[in-house]
Amino acid sequence: MPPPLSLQTPIEDLHQYGLPRFGQILSHKLATELARQSIKRDRPATVEDLLHYLPMRYEDRSRPSQIRDLTDGAQASLELIVKIAGAFQVKNKRAPGRSSLYIFEITATDPDRTGRPIVVWWFVSGTHAKDIIDYYNKRFVRGARFITFGRWDWDKRRATFSLKLHKPADELELLPAAMTTETGDEEGEESEANELDSVDHADPTLNVIHSGRRVPVYRKLGEFSSKRLREIIHGVLSLLPDDAITETLPLELLKRRKLIARPQALREIHFPPEEISLALYDQARSPAHLRLIFEDFFWIALGISLKRGRRVEEVKGTKIKLDHATKLRIGSVLPFKLTDAQRRVVRDIFKDLKSDAPMNRLLQGDVGSGKTIVALIAMLATMENGYQTALMAPTEILAEQHARNIKRLLAKSPYRVELLTGSLRAAEKRKLQVALAAGEIDAVIGTHALIQDAVTFKNLGLAVIDEQHRFGVMQRAELRSRGLNPDVLVMTATPIPRSLTMTIYGDLDVSVIDEMPPGRTPIQTRVCGEEARQEVKQLIAREVAAGRQVYVVYPLVEESEKMDLKDATQRYEYLRTRVFPKLSVGLVHGKMKTVEKEEVMRRFVAGEIQILVSTTVIEVGVDVPNASVMIVEHAERFGLSQLHQLRGRVGRGAKESYCVLLTSDKQTAVAVERLGIMAQTNDGFVIAEKDLELRGPGELLGTRQSGLPEFRVANIVRDQQFLEGARKEAEFYLAKGAKSVETAKMIERVRSDARFGLAAVG
Ligand code: ADP
Ligand code: MG
Repeated sequence: MPPPLSLQTPIEDLHQYGLPRFGQILSHKLATELARQSIKRDRPATVEDLLHYLPMRYEDRSRPSQIRDLTDGAQASLELIVKIAGAFQVKNKRAPGRSSLYIFEITATDPDRTGRPIVVWWFVSGTHAKDIIDYYNKRFVRGARFITFGRWDWDKRRATFSLKLHKPADELELLPAAMTTETGDEEGEESEANELDSVDHADPTLNVIHSGRRVPVYRKLGEFSSKRLREIIHGVLSLLPDDAITETLPLELLKRRKLIARPQALREIHFPPEEISLALYDQARSPAHLRLIFEDFFWIALGISLKRGRRVEEVKGTKIKLDHATKLRIGSVLPFKLTDAQRRVVRDIFKDLKSDAPMNRLLQGDVGSGKTIVALIAMLATMENGYQTALMAPTEILAEQHARNIKRLLAKSPYRVELLTGSLRAAEKRKLQVALAAGEIDAVIGTHALIQDAVTFKNLGLAVIDEQHRFGVMQRAELRSRGLNPDVLVMTATPIPRSLTMTIYGDLDVSVIDEMPPGRTPIQTRVCGEEARQEVKQLIAREVAAGRQVYVVYPLVEESEKMDLKDATQRYEYLRTRVFPKLSVGLVHGKMKTVEKEEVMRRFVAGEIQILVSTTVIEVGVDVPNASVMIVEHAERFGLSQLHQLRGRVGRGAKESYCVLLTSDKQTAVAVERLGIMAQTNDGFVIAEKDLELRGPGELLGTRQSGLPEFRVANIVRDQQFLEGARKEAEFYLAKGAKSVETAKMIERVRSDARFGLAAVG
């Protein structure tokens, strides 16, 4: 006998609980698929994870629509009976002469025959098209019953309604074969396939689950169809008693916020009760949704408050004094007058430096707003007090640029500045490491490797992390785990919408540079297609003739890195030999050796290279004020924030600058909308908000390294309005202090949940 089923039961063991047609192989497959869903795959999937695999929509099968109710363009779910089904081949316009394209088409009636038979169809293509069609032919035999959902359009030619499916696996479901005249020849197929896709089976309970009621529709999970998932989740929920679903929130909180209990919420989010409107479900505003969203936010808010609280108690090992003379010495190094915004931020930072608690500040400022000089000021203030400083950049190119600039600015100062990157020769590296450990180097500039490798400091006072969104938020923890507790300043040019700042960076103080250095002319942005090539060429020629420089950027998509590299390399050869044979054209990409990269960048900075072809390695931070044109090829493949970063490479001088976003002809609607925004605004915050809306936070911040907490139900964009309430409640309980049993239990819970990464910080 297995132990009673609980939320913690591993999915690997699920087959022991007598779910119909659910064996060990499926347990294993389901566990694997669920684990794949999670960002942090640090533990085996449990029943709790399964129950948080939420429906993508719901269908009201208690009252399916009938053919006579249909109107042109309306969404409806219909229960249908196959009259005729089959495939025919069509011309493949997208790739003529390549793979064959078929349409699979079903003509069907509803059970009560309320109107003319209607048509459901979809495309089938690819190398296995024939097998897939075979499979459909076997299933959609005359008399087979199915339910489908979508937008019905009036088809003039046939004088009936038709529905085009995009993903039949998600949008259509065969019903148990009560009336199906199908022959039993499939029984002979591999048992696994049958188990996964239990189309026809004489289990009478199946009817109760899949029709005649409201049902959840799930996104396909690996090989598990929506229908299969519905059966499994239904089975699990009926095996799980209410008291096995532990309540995580205090009862008085539920009352105060009018939230339903957890067992009820987890049941109803899958199987909506009759009395709640399905419209609320579609908007993720059903009582079940509200409860689970609140819970998500509550624990995150509590975790963040805990982190903040802990910080206040910390004491750093350094003592920093900033008197008038020190400030004057710092000021004498600056090559220009600070903007008001920069000055305000420097004041924040000075206050942090002087305090006994370690600084943990996020500096946000749009691309080109001048964050580097602020970092340098903080470093100088620290070095003036006899401590070492480190500046970390996300790419070697950027680290090299920082090192170059800072060495130049500090040439007359007594401070020793060194560049330490992973690609230095071993002997070289060792020498620098020894010097660092001895305290002979005052400022070290490098990549992430700086804090990961066996680097030791004599007395590190300040760590600056540039372009923070490229890293996780755990750097600080890394530093501390190595016995260092310095001031930390993280800088980002990806303007982070407020809602996100609170959740992800809630344990950081935030300063914003919201003003550009004087003398900038706004960048002119154009989105255009192939037809504009000639014009683009003229623009480049004209700007180069006027003594300016040009970037041409190619995307580098991970899956096809090699191909894109070829793309960039070929275009480079083409530009160099055919289009601009008289100009000096350079190429830089991520696969080059550091010395080569460095040499190309040096020549570009020195103006020896006029046109720089590159992959996205120049995306962040590169600062060459003489560059005035940014050409982005395949712009539709970039995210908005990335495009904004790229565009930020120009417009750094007083002269007019241009950004041309080139796209291929076929674009999705989203891509068009996205690129349109780039042409409309230069404001990074507006762009980030839009990006967040269109793509979600994971994409905006670079999914896996984002440090974004993993929400189960809540969606930071859709559900922003609930954040504040959850935060207030979390503060309320924390204010009671750990003496309150309830609060102590909550703290324990947050600490033990890996999703919050609190243990690592503690
Ligand atoms: P980012 O914030 O994107 O890192 P940088 O620090 O690279 O921006 O600064 C962008 C450009 O603006 C650099 O060429 C820098 O020298 C210049 N700059 C920064 N602050 C000022 C200022 N107060 N006055 C004039 N130029 C400035
Ligand atoms: Mg920068």
